[in-house]
Amino acid sequence: MPTEQQLEVRSHLLSTVRDFVKHEAIPQAAEHDENDTYPAELIEQMAEMGLFGMTVPEEYGGLGVDVTTFAMVFEELAKGWMSLTGPIGSHSMLTWGITKYGTEDQKKKWLPDLASGKKRGGLALTEPGGGTDVAGMETRAVKDGEEYVINGTKQFITNGRKGDVFLLLAKTDMNTNPPHKGITGFIAEKGPGFTSGKDFNKLGYRGVDTTELIFDDYRIDAENVLGNEEGRGFYQVMDSLETGRINVASRAIGVAQAAFEAAIRYAQQRETFGRPISTRQSIQNMLADMATKIHAARLMTRDAAAKKDQGERVDQEAGMAKLYASEICAEVTLDAMRIHGGAGYVKDFPIERYYRDAPLMIIGEGTNEIQRLIIAKNLLKIYEI
Ligand SMILES: Cc1cc2nc3c(=O)[nH]c(=O)nc-3n(C[C@H](O)[C@H](O)[C@H](O)COP(=O)(O)OP(=O)(O)OC[C@H]3O[C@@H](n4cnc5c(N)ncnc54)[C@H](O)[C@@H]3O)c2cc1C
Repeated sequence: MPTEQQLEVRSHLLSTVRDFVKHEAIPQAAEHDENDTYPAELIEQMAEMGLFGMTVPEEYGGLGVDVTTFAMVFEELAKGWMSLTGPIGSHSMLTWGITKYGTEDQKKKWLPDLASGKKRGGLALTEPGGGTDVAGMETRAVKDGEEYVINGTKQFITNGRKGDVFLLLAKTDMNTNPPHKGITGFIAEKGPGFTSGKDFNKLGYRGVDTTELIFDDYRIDAENVLGNEEGRGFYQVMDSLETGRINVASRAIGVAQAAFEAAIRYAQQRETFGRPISTRQSIQNMLADMATKIHAARLMTRDAAAKKDQGERVDQEAGMAKLYASEICAEVTLDAMRIHGGAGYVKDFPIERYYRDAPLMIIGEGTNEIQRLIIAKNLLKIYEI
């Protein structure tokens, strides 16, 4: 159970974030989305609120909030504009990894600047030959004295252009069995040999940078191996991904909630055949189903977050929450569009943006097909006969 003080911090942070979303984010979202422009001012404001260091312990300059509060903040931000959750979501995979697995020296060196948002970054895992199939990655790190020399290309990396530091996964051993035991995590900062490549032009989640990262004989000191543990990168990132899935589920709930609220308002204002469409049973059924799905997704996500707060591994709960919340987000945003009729399809209303933003949550942090595989594998273990 959270302490009184934790509840107070949560309530203060949520009220600050809600104000920010209402007065700053929502008024600017449509324009940034339309022009695909980076919301630098909004990101600065989020840094000032401490959101880049939400889960970083206070002793390293972060807010040190629990995963439940972290999830609630993501939901609030996504209700305003989902894109704003990306820069801090990916960044928090990096800070989570360092907090949990970094050596004391690594924590002292990296966390304060990452918590304040002075330095920003994310997770560099996906590459052309290895997204879902992480072990298929081709980025290689070859030991050379006290350094490693890294070559390879990552793709679809959030914060790829604006970010400075990444939790980079690269293969230090090509011959392990299973192959993921040859993957090592590095805390890699941009510099000679490590640059951004092309920018991806996206359907939704616009305004934030998603790029390639290119490593061309990039030399990195061996002291930047996360936790000084070669061959542990896959396991370290799987833990970060549990928090990542809770954050993606929360984003999905935020987008779905925004779409639902817009739909229920619109349904009461829009009249056809002499009365509001909200009086029609087919519209009411949609509204009831939308709210029920959102409620269920929120309960699942908060349950995963609460268990994570108790120090449990939650790959099953976080996977189920991410799977369910992202699927219902796509359904709810489509229903909100149906309720808006033609108004849902044009850019005068935010509905079409919610609809475009929704699918990322199905793909990111492990696709839903993979969530189902993991969930089923766990179930078969639990119910083995
Ligand atoms: C906007 C955006 C931002 C992103 N940000 C980041 C980031 O910051 N860092 C990062 O590392 N990555 C990031 N990603 C990458 C994202 O995590 C991957 O796209 C995702 O994991 C899927 O990998 P893939 O694209 O290689 O798809 P693939 O692995 O090629 O999958 C294609 C399809 O095949 C299915 N599939 C694959 N293998 C199996 C299987 N064994 N069984 C059943 N179905 C299977 C998948 O579910 C999917 O439907 C981002 C992606 C996007 C679009």
